[in-house]
Amino acid sequence: MTTGWTKSDWRAKPRVQMPDYTDAAALRGVEAQLAKYPPLVFAGEARRLKKQLALAAEGKAFLLQGGDCAESFAEFSADNIRDTFRVLLQMAVVLTYGAKVPVIKVGRMAGQFAKPRSTATEVIDGLELPSYRGDIINGFDFTPEARIPDPARMLQAYTQAAASLNLLRAFSTGGFADIHRVHSWTLGFAESDKAERYREISNRISDALDFMNAAGVNAETAHNLAVVDFYTSHEALLLEYEEALCRIDSITGLPVAGSGHMIWIGDRTRQVDGAHVEFAKGVLNPIGLKCGPTTTASDLKALMAKLNPTNEPGRLTLIARFGAGKVAENLPRLIKAVQEEGAAVVWTCDPMHGNTVKSASGYKTRPFEQVLREVREFFGIHKAEGTIPGGVHFEMTGKDVTECTGGLRAVKDENLADRYHTACDPRLNASQSLELAFLVAEELSS
Ligand code: PEP
Ligand code: MN
Repeated sequence: MTTGWTKSDWRAKPRVQMPDYTDAAALRGVEAQLAKYPPLVFAGEARRLKKQLALAAEGKAFLLQGGDCAESFAEFSADNIRDTFRVLLQMAVVLTYGAKVPVIKVGRMAGQFAKPRSTATEVIDGLELPSYRGDIINGFDFTPEARIPDPARMLQAYTQAAASLNLLRAFSTGGFADIHRVHSWTLGFAESDKAERYREISNRISDALDFMNAAGVNAETAHNLAVVDFYTSHEALLLEYEEALCRIDSITGLPVAGSGHMIWIGDRTRQVDGAHVEFAKGVLNPIGLKCGPTTTASDLKALMAKLNPTNEPGRLTLIARFGAGKVAENLPRLIKAVQEEGAAVVWTCDPMHGNTVKSASGYKTRPFEQVLREVREFFGIHKAEGTIPGGVHFEMTGKDVTECTGGLRAVKDENLADRYHTACDPRLNASQSLELAFLVAEELSS
């Protein structure tokens, strides 16, 4: 955090991937309204998450971050939130068993609405329109009207995020997250056809829970088995929204992003002197930084100096997203940059964004095998370098969608059309997500 920083300083910096609102008065009205609303998250929660992430940097905790590529207004429902939350909890139990350390649970939820795009416009049947940039900015429908950025969408996103968080907070502490319940769902999965490989780990978790129960440690006697800490995160892309929800922490007097517990900077907006880095550097929240094949060692050093000048542990999570087959040529050089700076960071693996391909049927997809391969390469490099793989970052949903191919239920190219619901990138479905958690648990315990 920088003294003298203000939440509007980003406005003087080059901005990319943000809309140009045409109705300035409407934009100002929305910003003024949001600035009066309660923050969605509280500074003490963001500070607590940062402390937990500091442990992940040392290998004493493990970060599980996941959720939609883009939350949407149309897909907003209690069932969707519940199902994604449920599978994240299931994954967390399996990962806790594999890693033998606490798993920090962070959703790409309750605020993940704004999307950077690789092209400013798209052309369909000869018609060229501005790209869809997420429901907080414009509409998905391929019409000129829908694609006009509308500031009023920020208010709807805020309301949806607030309602989502309300439900997530209730699920976290109201009995839903009891480890015995969560594990019983996983047992159901492991009993299904072809899941015999995962049955053994599931049975071992059952034994551990039975043993603890016999020893008098259960949800009634041990609070930790009945409730979870659950945090939210999103890409801090739409800076008008972020600025309007920025607040001052009454305990430390420091600025905090009130839009989510953790915010991250995307691979397309991590310019050292750009608007997004300028905003993120001033808030006390834990910050994620995507690192891709084009991230150079000197970029990374400059970004670490800006985003975490005091080298505060837990402040910075580096989210590696290189693509399967590209980890060996990229991760070691960035690990070296981190070591040269003596920086404390959490290294986490996003095996989604470097593995997007167009299927024969024309859908954007990600093969499960490639996702798994990148995760294994990430673990392999950390093992070879003697550094710590601190977490994983997935695009996933609790629903039975057909967006990524593969997995034990073998979604095939020709199935993609069946239930392809994402507003943006393809997500792992519930079964693929849980299967991946088992495979990551194997890596963690090997
Ligand atoms: C994302 O996480 O949805 C995203 C756009 O990722 P990246 O910035 O790594 O491409
Ligand atoms: Mn994405």
